[in-house]
Amino acid sequence: MNKDCLFCKIGTGAIPSEKIYESDTIFAINDINPQAPTHILIIPKEHYSSLLDIEEADHELMGSIISVANNLAKERELDLSGYRLVVNCGENAGQSVMHIHYHILGGRSLKWPPG
Ligand code: AMP
Ligand code: ZN
Repeated sequence: MNKDCLFCKIGTGAIPSEKIYESDTIFAINDINPQAPTHILIIPKEHYSSLLDIEEADHELMGSIISVANNLAKERELDLSGYRLVVNCGENAGQSVMHIHYHILGGRSLKWPPG
């Protein structure tokens, strides 16, 4: 828990939000500024500043995040049309919240390469 971190505060409930998924270790919320019809953030409750903080001991947690992504996508029938799972890491990738989070984007055709 980082007392100045937005996603730590949402995770503990210090800042209220509608969680669309929650376990002991992970939660998911709708992005406040959606870039696609489905734009969900999957967030571990433990504070990691970015993908660069992930170590071998965290592999199980990262695997669980991928399962959560698949389950949320399937609930929304995005397994039929496809979806994108994105982690922005650091300045050049445009990371704006320094607590690791995975974006699920779906419900429209997404361009590649990204801008
Ligand atoms: P990134 O740019 O990859 O760090 O993504 C941060 C994401 O967090 C952006 O898509 C924001 O729209 C989203 N965001 C920021 N504040 C909130 C919030 N209070 N609730 C939900 N999503 C948020
Ligand atoms: Zn945090």
